[in-house]
Amino acid sequence: MAARTPEGMRGIAAVPSYVVMQPTTLCNLDCAYCYLPLRAADRRMPVAVAEAVAASVNPWAAGGRFSVVWHGGEPLAAGREHLAALLAPFGPDVEHHVQTNATLVDDAWCAFFAEHRVRVSVSVDGPRARNAERVTRGGRPAYDRIVAGVAALRRHGVPFSALAVVSRPEPGLATELYDYFLDLGCDVLGVNIEETEGVNTRTNARDAGAVTGFWAELVAAWRRDPRIHLREVEWSLRYAGAVLAGTADDLLPRRLDPIPTVGHDGSVVVLSPELAGFTDPHYGDFASGNVLTTPLGEILAGAAGTPWVGEFLTGVEACRTSCAYFGFCGGGHAANRYFELGRFDGTETEHCRNSKIRLLEGVLEHARDHQ
Ligand code: SF4
Repeated sequence: MAARTPEGMRGIAAVPSYVVMQPTTLCNLDCAYCYLPLRAADRRMPVAVAEAVAASVNPWAAGGRFSVVWHGGEPLAAGREHLAALLAPFGPDVEHHVQTNATLVDDAWCAFFAEHRVRVSVSVDGPRARNAERVTRGGRPAYDRIVAGVAALRRHGVPFSALAVVSRPEPGLATELYDYFLDLGCDVLGVNIEETEGVNTRTNARDAGAVTGFWAELVAAWRRDPRIHLREVEWSLRYAGAVLAGTADDLLPRRLDPIPTVGHDGSVVVLSPELAGFTDPHYGDFASGNVLTTPLGEILAGAAGTPWVGEFLTGVEACRTSCAYFGFCGGGHAANRYFELGRFDGTETEHCRNSKIRLLEGVLEHARDHQ
């Protein structure tokens, strides 16, 4: 399925749809596939950084839906008192989300989520045996602590999403995972094929048939009982429907969402949260500015002038002219290009094969098999 080359989507939008914030670099776990470079250090975000971000974000949120995603490290490792102080500058129109490993979630955290209307997303990779890579700093399995946190969420009626990393796609896994997440009680599920990123240098080259088969099987499992919003599959079906209706070019945003990530120290990295905290002899620290000295809106307005960002936009244009999947993908993620190709103006990566091209192929394979 190939739509005509999409014409829309040029450059970077001046206003994002969400901001990622790093309340602490610390994580209490030490998962084998984690990309975070500073996860053993507790570098906390000062309240002044949150105040500076809120000064830009509050007017944006008053004009439409806007989210702040608290992402770490493990955001709950910052503690309730500090996280409350970081949330305080944001106005009532801002939606707050946390991406958590759930191991610290207890009754008091559930009360916190309810009081601050924080939407929770839990990182868990499926049943116990599928979580072998999720371990504590002492190397012990974290699974029992994860499910204890999820049990607390359920006891308190806190709705939650789940995010699963799949390292080895194999027959039967997609069905096993989908059934597991139905039982777990999440209302949204995102599935990531493990990525080579940051300090995780393990290869993500996978057998094409295994990955396509994984996605096709996941669609089949979801269609039997579509109670969960399955992020990747719903995107794919929306795209397939738009291609058939001749409206695929309207799906991509007119401009790339800058997805600013505000690090613990106020530095702003656009487009890929995974680049925050890294430096490169050629590209420097990837930051486009710091909210402690420059308003976030001003940083975003000038972000295309950051040399690596300009190089990435060249890569997006190369994708537009060379890849049949551009209308679905929009040109991929900066961090995958950097960590796989060592530069930003390349095109195809293992990540886009696993999570864009084979995803769409898997959805189509399922459709062909069930005509
Ligand atoms: S990132 Fe990959 S899938 Fe996406 S448009 Fe570029 S080459 Fe295609």
